[in-house]
Amino acid sequence: MSETIFSKIINHELPADIVYEDDAIIAFRDINPQAPVHILIVPKVAIATVNDIKPEQAELIGKMVLTAQQIAAGEGIAEDGYRLVINCNRHGCQEVFHLHLHLVGGRQLRGISAG
Ligand code: AMP
Repeated sequence: MSETIFSKIINHELPADIVYEDDAIIAFRDINPQAPVHILIVPKVAIATVNDIKPEQAELIGKMVLTAQQIAAGEGIAEDGYRLVINCNRHGCQEVFHLHLHLVGGRQLRGISAG
């Protein structure tokens, strides 16, 4: 997979507002937040899209969700609620082709039905 802006953040070659990091995952605040809390949870291994996730990476994907759960609690938005989103390819409006989970909250969100 070609290098993306997120691989540069993972390698600490680009600055980011990092809120969590371990051997497998990094999480940082979105540069263009859509809500008071907008954090991207990113696996360090290069996976381009949801379509490219392999069965043996199921644990990693679960860890991304559990990391989002912990960050939401730390941000104080767990009880009110939040949204987790992964965009995939053109119709999903994916812009950065390194898998990432959006954690969005801190205000009342609208329904997703309108797209
Ligand atoms: P997506 O459309 O799902 O690929 O989302 C990509 C997200 O990455 C967008 O919400 C961008 O605002 C965000 N983004 C792009 N560049 C950066 C950056 N350097 N630091 C933090 N977030 C970024």
